[in-house]
Amino acid sequence: MAPLERAADEAWWNLATSGTDQAREEFVRAGKEYNGLFSDQNECRDLRNLYENLDTLESPLLQRQISVLYRAFAERQGDEEILGRIEELEAEANAVYGNHRSVVRDREIGENEVREILRTSADPVLRRETWEASKSVGRAVEGTVRELARLRNRLAREQGYENHYARSLELQEIEAQELARIMGRLESATDEPFRELKRGIDEELRLKFGVDAVMPWHLSGPFFHRAPDIVGIELDRYFEGEDLEDLTRRTFDALGLDVRGVISSSDLYEREGKSQHAFCARLGREYPYDVRVLANIRPDAYWMDAMLHEFGHAVYDRHVNPRLPYLLRTYAHANTTEAIALMMGALVDNPGWLRSVAGADQEKLDEDAEMLAAHRRASRLILTRSVLVMYHFEQALYADPDNEALSSVWWDLVERLLFVDRPPGRDEPDWAAVIHVAVAPVYYHNYILGELISAQLRNYLESHITQGPFYENEVAGRYLLESFFGPGARESWRDTVLRATGEPLNPEYFVKSLI
Ligand SMILES: [Zn+2]
Repeated sequence: MAPLERAADEAWWNLATSGTDQAREEFVRAGKEYNGLFSDQNECRDLRNLYENLDTLESPLLQRQISVLYRAFAERQGDEEILGRIEELEAEANAVYGNHRSVVRDREIGENEVREILRTSADPVLRRETWEASKSVGRAVEGTVRELARLRNRLAREQGYENHYARSLELQEIEAQELARIMGRLESATDEPFRELKRGIDEELRLKFGVDAVMPWHLSGPFFHRAPDIVGIELDRYFEGEDLEDLTRRTFDALGLDVRGVISSSDLYEREGKSQHAFCARLGREYPYDVRVLANIRPDAYWMDAMLHEFGHAVYDRHVNPRLPYLLRTYAHANTTEAIALMMGALVDNPGWLRSVAGADQEKLDEDAEMLAAHRRASRLILTRSVLVMYHFEQALYADPDNEALSSVWWDLVERLLFVDRPPGRDEPDWAAVIHVAVAPVYYHNYILGELISAQLRNYLESHITQGPFYENEVAGRYLLESFFGPGARESWRDTVLRATGEPLNPEYFVKSLI
């Protein structure tokens, strides 16, 4: 497994940093070879027998390895041709998103420039053209995404699941009913505060652009996903002319967590042909770990958040106990690694961090205190409502990938949950412009579970471990290392949360921060 996993991870990195056809072919080839490890039906059946009788195994480490390995097999069972086709289509979709440039007034522009225009331009016509151009990727991948959903569903149904969504949740050790309960709780807890927030935003935008109806292109981002979308919140000026690489290093130094090795093997600046997003990649699991970050840094708040977020993933990956069995040498769950990434990213508008690490002026911070608190609260509210949109949309997609009205399903949810009106007469597959729908299916809930865990963990750190801001304290770093990162995938995410915070997952820490 080790050499094939390393090769597949490397191929993914090479594809994301170069975008060439050759890299794509190698990515598909290496992916198939790696997935082939888990395709044997007899081995899968033997594993299922063990998995269903875990108590007969004495060692908890062995139990955990069996359940990790069984899920790796279960995920990849099915007709070989379909599995191969899914790999190809995912690679194809990845390439379309990676190479897509919005064409505005005969000029090709990248995602950073799209964001720049929507953040700063006062020209409503240019804003509309830019917003529409950024959505055009949706039409280019719509067919691929629908076909992916159909094929994923076929595999899931062969295994007796209702559809891919249901199967995915189960294989991720997420209980559908519990998730539905959490989502319901978050929807009702955010309904009023979010309505109020959006009302304020709309009022300002109406004044600013002299319009009666606020349209999506009046918001200051291609998706209504983040707090910089809010007029009057100018976090960027804290990062103008700053060296984000250096601020990232200093942030993790303060926790006693060294990221120099990761920085030196990372690919952090914009370049032709490279993926325009940000992610952290761990190449294989052999020690010393090879962990890298891809980013497209510009000196602004968006990229500061992204850097802290991705390096949050990176420190987790780097500090998993290398003496664990190979299969357990990774994070406990996508939601536990998102928890660390989100906890770190949220420092971007934290006055204490801005002062002690980013060196901001105390007087300026005092003046901005209200704005900074509003920014954090708005970020959480917007994230929560966006996750709700994706949560409901993906269920609709997998319930019926052929549904001709998916565009209106999407806009209905956006209107109901984000209070953003659809442009009159618009009938474009805007849902397909969200890259996750194609290449990271049934993943979005991990962001919100990550937020819940992050709020709970931070509360525990600051009330039990540091008695003050966790980010200024090496003891917090050591605690994270020993009780969160080190144990890796030795236990399930639930057990990790329980052991590291002294109680099971409790949404109320996060809910409290919203109200
Ligand atoms: Zn992340």
